[in-house]
Amino acid sequence: MPRTPRIVVVGGGFVGLTLAQQLERRLRRGEAEVVLVDASPSMTYQPFLAEVAGGRIEARHVAVPLRTTLRGTRVVTGAATTVDRDRRTVQLTLPDGTTMGLDYDELVLAPGSVSRTQPVPGLTEHAVGFTTLADALRLRDAVLTRLALAADTQDAERRRAALTFVVVGGGYTGVEAVAELQDLARSTARRYPGLDVTELRFELVEADAEIMPELPPRLGAYTRARLGDSGITVRLRTQVTSMVEGLVELSDGERFRADTVVWAAGVRGNPLLARIGLPVDPRGRLRTRTTLRVDGAEHVWAAGDGAAVPDLAAARPSDDATPLCGATAQHAVRQAKVLARNLVATLRGGRLADYRHRDAGSVAGLGSHRGVARIYGVPLRGLAAWLLHRVYHLAMMPTWGRKERIALDWMSALLGRRDLTAADLVRGGLTARPESRAQVPA
Ligand SMILES: Cc1cc2nc3c(=O)[nH]c(=O)nc-3n(C[C@H](O)[C@H](O)[C@H](O)COP(=O)(O)OP(=O)(O)OC[C@H]3O[C@@H](n4cnc5c(N)ncnc54)[C@H](O)[C@@H]3O)c2cc1C
Repeated sequence: MPRTPRIVVVGGGFVGLTLAQQLERRLRRGEAEVVLVDASPSMTYQPFLAEVAGGRIEARHVAVPLRTTLRGTRVVTGAATTVDRDRRTVQLTLPDGTTMGLDYDELVLAPGSVSRTQPVPGLTEHAVGFTTLADALRLRDAVLTRLALAADTQDAERRRAALTFVVVGGGYTGVEAVAELQDLARSTARRYPGLDVTELRFELVEADAEIMPELPPRLGAYTRARLGDSGITVRLRTQVTSMVEGLVELSDGERFRADTVVWAAGVRGNPLLARIGLPVDPRGRLRTRTTLRVDGAEHVWAAGDGAAVPDLAAARPSDDATPLCGATAQHAVRQAKVLARNLVATLRGGRLADYRHRDAGSVAGLGSHRGVARIYGVPLRGLAAWLLHRVYHLAMMPTWGRKERIALDWMSALLGRRDLTAADLVRGGLTARPESRAQVPA
């Protein structure tokens, strides 16, 4: 009897979860076995990380358990370490350190991205990334414990450093993070006798001339103004040049001590992708064709943050180079749907479809009841954008159970019951690495 073909999917994030759900719907009984491998037992809905850090959403509610959500897929919790393309095998390390090999007929690589670091002295020792649930919890704890320290210490310099927070990177990740962390710090400071909200120092540092460049200039200016109203200093055309032992030095000559530095200065492809011997772009993403098949590899596919996918819907720049899709959940989910169709077509000897999606725009929350958005070219700001941000992400959040829990968290926060409990994760200082997103064993 012929063996059932096996599709192995590495990465159970936006791409992996959507792809597995689509394959469960599209494949006939016995047509193929789908195995989903992820280093973590759950998918994290990253657009809600800022609200987890801000204490508006409970951490577990943004994590979608893979095993119980995917009933027709074999889920393996383990980290993929290498791929042998000649033997069509993926090598995995299981949580207890043991290894196992998994044969495939078709392989999908979707392990996402990691923080793009720079050679800044002190970066790996002092900064924390903002890509995982653990990062969000650590930052939330950092705010709460630093405020408590500031309230207790007799040392004025220690107090200033404890109350100083720096976010590096003015994309939507950095903007949402600084807005939520500052909101959390203000709410907390008001409840601590001896602390004054005017002592809080929040700095958003951006190397380019604009924050959130995907927004039209007027909305960018609005965002800067709202952040400024809340007491956040936005520094454009500025780089962090050093942060050794918490002494932050900026390219504009400013120097100050900050206990907490968040690194949100862009992402690059997961390091696993560069180890497979297939073509990657300068950002470490696998180069794919418009069908999402990896260039030069018949049975290997890629999508999401770890794939350099030609963007057929984007306007071509003057140098005629094909633009590539951005690292967004919007592309990841839609690519996963086309990929599911193409995998089924491959099994059945059908035609492959091209990935083409016109970018719908972006939405970002700026803390309490304020946001910015551009949807199909229409700019929105303030309460309308904030509501749209919530409605959009709640609709995109996988599973009804998670949607329900998040809606209840929001109601509870609106009634003024934002949780200000520290989980005591950062005693002794912040030591997380910006590359904590994907701890892939060598
Ligand atoms: C804070 C934050 C906010 C964001 N907000 C937005 C937003 O508002 N809108 C938007 O469109 N996009 C947003 N994004 C971007 C969006 O989250 C990503 O584009 C999306 O997650 C990409 O999906 P993916 O499936 O490629 O990767 P991921 O969703 O990151 O999934 C990758 C998966 O691979 C697993 N993995 C990694 N290495 C291995 C390995 N070696 N073996 C096995 N498994 C592995 C990981 O555990 C993870 O589950 C945000 C990102 C962040 C960090």
